[in-house]
Amino acid sequence: MESNSSSGTTGSPARIRLCEHSEQVVLHTSWTDRNAGRRFFGCPYWYPGAPKTGGAHCD
Ligand SMILES: [Zn+2]
Repeated sequence: MESNSSSGTTGSPARIRLCEHSEQVVLHTSWTDRNAGRRFFGCPYWYPGAPKTGGAHCD
């Protein structure tokens, strides 16, 4: 007699945020005059000074 308890929980992995590029977002720190020290999430395609429009900056 086997008591096989079906455990559906296999330990959900850490939630990884993916941007619209399907890339893992990382935490950036903005050092612009307006947002000095402001932290936000950006994908690897993001770069300092990237325009918010056009998909260069996504979070
Ligand atoms: Zn992206």
